[in-house]
Amino acid sequence: LSDTLTTSPAGLGEAVIPHLIDASQLEPSLILTLLRRAEELRQPDQSQAVALRGKIMATLFYEPSTRTRLSFESAMLRLGGQVMGAQDAARASSAAKGESLEDTVRVVGGYADIIVLRHPEIGAAERAARVSDVPLINAGDGAGQHPTQALLDLLTIKLELGRLDNLRIGLVGDLKHGRTVRSLSVLLSHFPGNELVLIAPPELAMGEDVLRQLQGRVRTRQESDLSASAGSLDVLYQTRIQAERFSSREDYERLRGVYVVDEALMRRLPEHAIVLHPLPRLDEIDPGVDTDPRAAYFRQAKNGVYMRMALLQWLLGAG
Ligand code: ASP
Repeated sequence: LSDTLTTSPAGLGEAVIPHLIDASQLEPSLILTLLRRAEELRQPDQSQAVALRGKIMATLFYEPSTRTRLSFESAMLRLGGQVMGAQDAARASSAAKGESLEDTVRVVGGYADIIVLRHPEIGAAERAARVSDVPLINAGDGAGQHPTQALLDLLTIKLELGRLDNLRIGLVGDLKHGRTVRSLSVLLSHFPGNELVLIAPPELAMGEDVLRQLQGRVRTRQESDLSASAGSLDVLYQTRIQAERFSSREDYERLRGVYVVDEALMRRLPEHAIVLHPLPRLDEIDPGVDTDPRAAYFRQAKNGVYMRMALLQWLLGAG
């Protein structure tokens, strides 16, 4: 394999073990390799059923998950590997006895060939990777990063619209706490001609750290009116207001429902456009929209399996 995770997060240095922690590690050539591989994996091919035979993936989830954990497990099983996991790891692993994340990861690395970690703290995956003897994948670190979601989002846009460049993408909702949009905006900045329309109330605006990363690489525009922006979008990426990241319930209640994708909004959206959402959705997409062919969020969730298959193969050197 010629591609490498060339920009390791600070501290990982020249690590020979590849860890995927942050979207900024993903160079365009690797993104393209993974997209191509994921597209191939969508075609049924029995030879894949043994690609990771004998390998074990451990999932360590300290925060709730449906899609990320199960699609990683499905991906590993489809490649002939095996899975073991601690869901609800904060209560059901030795973390409840006070064990540090680092110690848990050191130990689990002796049982598994690859670790998929979700944790509520920003930076937890990077901390864990520093001590991990096996590849570690960040499956969400608080309001930090969610690079594998961003990869499957790219795959979905490519499959739905046929390209990843010259697109106007509206990222909508809780851009402050939403780790998916923080990762996705960085990946979209690699493709020429894109424009990111960051649609959020001022309290939930995209973090300065991400804006700095995007500067000079992709056009960005900050807006707060979704219906005024909808008419020119190719992709409307809706997000959930992240209740669990608010310190006050009142602030959350005031901001939830700020943007709703409903049938009226869909009438403003161009015919060729698509609606994405990392899910779970609460009331920010009306279920009446689900039957609209432009509603691509359930297809998006399914694409997670193919992208995670591609990634597992790549990180385990079997790609
Ligand atoms: N499932 C996504 C995440 O884990 C989005 C969300 O929870 O709103 O970040």
